[in-house]
Amino acid sequence: MTTNKDFAYWQRLATDLQIEGRAFIDGQYVAAASGKTFPCISPIDGRVLTQVAECDAADVDAAVAAARRSFESGEWAGLNPRQRKKVMTRFAGLLRQNMDELAVLETLDAGKPIGDTTSVDVPGAAYCVEWFGEAIDKVGGEVVPADHHLVGLVTREPIGVVACVVPWNFPILMAAWKFAPALAAGNSVILKPSEKSPLTAIRVAQLALEAGIPAGVFNIVPGAGNTGRLLALHMDVDCIAFTGSTAVGKQIMQCAGQSNLKRAWLELGGKSPNIILPDCPDLDRAAATAAGAIFYNMGEMCTAGSRLLVHRSIKDAFVAKVLEQAAKWVPGHPLDPNTGMGAIVDHIQLDRVLGYVEAGRSESKLLTGGSRLETIKGGYYLEPTVFEVEAHHKIAREEIFGPVLSVITFDDVDEAIKIANDSDYGLAAAVWTSNLTTAHDVSRKLRAGTVWVNCYDEGGDMNFPFGGYKQSGNGRDKSLHALEKYTELKSTLVRLR
Ligand code: NAP
Ligand code: MG
Repeated sequence: MTTNKDFAYWQRLATDLQIEGRAFIDGQYVAAASGKTFPCISPIDGRVLTQVAECDAADVDAAVAAARRSFESGEWAGLNPRQRKKVMTRFAGLLRQNMDELAVLETLDAGKPIGDTTSVDVPGAAYCVEWFGEAIDKVGGEVVPADHHLVGLVTREPIGVVACVVPWNFPILMAAWKFAPALAAGNSVILKPSEKSPLTAIRVAQLALEAGIPAGVFNIVPGAGNTGRLLALHMDVDCIAFTGSTAVGKQIMQCAGQSNLKRAWLELGGKSPNIILPDCPDLDRAAATAAGAIFYNMGEMCTAGSRLLVHRSIKDAFVAKVLEQAAKWVPGHPLDPNTGMGAIVDHIQLDRVLGYVEAGRSESKLLTGGSRLETIKGGYYLEPTVFEVEAHHKIAREEIFGPVLSVITFDDVDEAIKIANDSDYGLAAAVWTSNLTTAHDVSRKLRAGTVWVNCYDEGGDMNFPFGGYKQSGNGRDKSLHALEKYTELKSTLVRLR
């Protein structure tokens, strides 16, 4: 490890990288049974990084069989929780030891700035694995206050075979939010990464094995399109934990209903409001935060503060500050540690976002940005973009998942709450005020799984449950509550006499 991790260091690492693209089933890297692959493309410059196994029914069956066998054997599920803790801690340590390699893989694959993958994605995944490992030997069951002739116990047991289907915006981190609690609780896991960003998941499986997670307990089945559906329909998968779009989330639930009624947990999209009241304690900080809330990670954030609601009395002054901040989010080379904004994940997503920009141009008022950039030849880059909109405009209602901010003006706090809640989504929301009563009143009225007051996107802390109201999903990732998703509750009644 060098101490000076400059642009050249990361470029060298990227060039030297050996990239694995095969599936990981029952403790081994294997090609798809069909031999089929799909190209894994870097959005930095559009080049093919490697070919990745395209898993279909035969591979999914093999992974499920390995997971079932390992679960039934009890070699993981039956371990003393302290032993599982030790292995999970070792696993977290290996993620940290391999931080640079994992961060470069993530940056190459998803276009995320290296400064983010080294400070958020990979360390966040290691922290998550460690946190659930540390927790698992500390959570017990209940002794129920039953009749004297009974002893009543309520315990939690692993569900069995858990499938995790995850998106591309935080590939390793969203995966860890699922596989860490699922593994800690004693389940056997099959992880299906997004076809747009499968590389870190593929690498992480080997580190899990190296840490001591037995073969078959953690499997990776990359695929394009159909692989997740096969898992959702599988009769021997007991639970599917999904993060992704609301449209696919609905299909996952239908697949669960069509097959074996597997538990289906959904973390879905958002269109989160960020409300600036006239008594906002610090307009400069609020403007910088509002820009970060939509431009961080190229706006490819489920919690993106994509609707900025500003009180009319401060609107002009505040929007001017936001535009000043937006100008700082110029895309750069994702491997350059000074880059704040990287590449959009692929040409499909870029076109989707540009489609929304077009809709915005015809209906709303463009304040800045809106154009594709050739930051690096062949890559997918977009200017930070801000529109002034009416709350009913298309770009103010639909999740764009790109660096496009909609500014909406309101006249009083009740109107702001009404606009904020007038959405199919309910993932996150924020309010800025100096008044404690207003802060609590508004927070209570906002229909969202997370509410921030005088901040945005705080909460890297694993103690906070994360998930949505309404069509943003069900269940929660992170915190001890996440263990509820991966365990069955059992009542045991013992008659004494
Ligand atoms: P997506 O298109 O729904 O895909 C998510 C995953 O599902 C991918 O692995 C995808 O595989 C797979 N998939 C696609 N079609 C499927 C089907 N019919 N059945 C089963 N699986 C299927 O979402 P995305 O574009 O990757 O991610 C962006 C979305 O994720 C946004 O809506 C964002 O808000 C949401 N998100 C939510 C959270 C949260 O915690 N609430 C966090 C991050 C992102 P392929 O790639 O192979 O098609
Ligand atoms: Mg990619």
